[in-house]
Amino acid sequence: MPTKYVFVTGGVVSSLGKGIVASSLACLLERRGLKVTMMKLDPYINVDPGTMSPFQHGEVYVTDDGAETDLDLGHYERFTHCQLTRDNNATTGQIYSNVIAKERKGEYLGKTVQVVPHITNEIKERIKRVAHSTKGLDVAIIEVGGTIGDIESLPFLEAVRQMRRDVGKDNAIYVHLTLVPYLKSAGELKTKPTQHSVKELLGIGIQPDVVVCRTEHPFLPDTKSKIALFCNLDEDAVIENRDVQSIYEMPLFMRAEGLDRIVCKRLNLRPREARLADWERMVQKVKKPRRQVSIAVVGKYTEVKDAYKSITESLIHGGIANDAHVDIQWLEATALEGKGAAKQLKGVNGILVPGGFGHRGIEGKIEAIRFAREKKVPYFGICLGMQTMAIEFARNVCGLDHANSTEFDAGSAHPIISLLEEQKEIKNLGGTMRLGSYPCRLTKGTLSAKAYGEKVIFERHRHRYEFNNFYRDLFAAQGMVLAGLSPDETLVEILELKDHPWMLGVQFHPEFRSKPTHAHPLFKDFVAAALKRR
Ligand code: GLN
Repeated sequence: MPTKYVFVTGGVVSSLGKGIVASSLACLLERRGLKVTMMKLDPYINVDPGTMSPFQHGEVYVTDDGAETDLDLGHYERFTHCQLTRDNNATTGQIYSNVIAKERKGEYLGKTVQVVPHITNEIKERIKRVAHSTKGLDVAIIEVGGTIGDIESLPFLEAVRQMRRDVGKDNAIYVHLTLVPYLKSAGELKTKPTQHSVKELLGIGIQPDVVVCRTEHPFLPDTKSKIALFCNLDEDAVIENRDVQSIYEMPLFMRAEGLDRIVCKRLNLRPREARLADWERMVQKVKKPRRQVSIAVVGKYTEVKDAYKSITESLIHGGIANDAHVDIQWLEATALEGKGAAKQLKGVNGILVPGGFGHRGIEGKIEAIRFAREKKVPYFGICLGMQTMAIEFARNVCGLDHANSTEFDAGSAHPIISLLEEQKEIKNLGGTMRLGSYPCRLTKGTLSAKAYGEKVIFERHRHRYEFNNFYRDLFAAQGMVLAGLSPDETLVEILELKDHPWMLGVQFHPEFRSKPTHAHPLFKDFVAAALKRR
């Protein structure tokens, strides 16, 4: 059977949840027994989001093979069994870099290199490469970033328009996501923005096969027929996408609306009905948890919730696994400096310090960690959160005044965290950190070994700095356990404090491997420890 393509575009406004709709569709198709993969096309000129501030772009999601990608790839992996790589996220920056490199090699000799066909061909090749490299693939779902009408996304839309010509009309369809706003004063749902957005798509040569309409207010009896009429669609191709309590409800809502049914029909696929029993059980747990626990996340990008997307979701997963609702308290690290920590952290059942870069907020994080250690509040440090846990321990337990990371104090007398040897030579910032999945050997009898139930684990990394091995013996003597090491024993990957109910720091990013139906073991045990503390 030829590979089928579903292209997902968005109109009217951004942030409609295109990634969630695309992931929900993938979830449903997978559970109908189809092999699915997903890809994101991002119109910005950065080669990858790795060099963008979390304030601009939200979280940078890291794949097993060490690509720094768009956070939508996180949703793709959480909703499906897809194993994504650097091929699954293409940006304008990558497309142009490749075309320019080919031009310099003389591959287009004699030709004027143009957006059409050279850039669009490069985009199509990227899409086909993903499809061809996935064994036994049935459906590739390709999400086009940006909003219809943006200048930047035009080459991508032109490429996906051509794709249907290339692969045949039964093998490619277009799903367009729009907004149907509700005007309170008029008591009406407005379909005009959807009509305009579809008109804009038609101008590019794309007639959507399915329109998914995000709405805060339930559709009225005639809303679908109106949209169907104006957008040249059958009524069953208009899908209502109402706000739901949890994003994990979306696949169930989309199934009830018939999204997977219409997609299969248009693609001439006849798979079985979707099997969702475990997913439904999980959603029940999200909606009706038996218990509640409060966890403080002490970060420096807390105004932008997208900056900690995978952490947020992993805490929710940890909650699901413990039948508990996790109430996340977002605390801005700078506000905890000085005497602020004890007051703001009073009453929380667990404290998490996530990853981060740069010295702003560091002292506040260290205060929060001191509070967690002294008051025996369960603590989970991730990447920078492990590094700051080590600095706090060095200063306040080992008596090493001014202990620090060389990232924040290049001349520190006690550089507890310092640069990897191979990092010292690096000049370019993009894509040069220690990135992707690496093995780690767990120490017997530790909280980590208990959580994973395995000897060797694989976790994803994104950092430049490391625990300084010079301090290993001192730390061990003072009660800090080296709970995980790289197999060659040169790198400290996990620290655990003895004589504390649950205080653990990891140099890697476990949040990139957690799923709603399979919570990451460390998040599961952290939430369990916090529940005990209540
Ligand atoms: N800034 C630290 C480093 O580069 C931590 C990185 C992170 O938390 N992702 O090592």
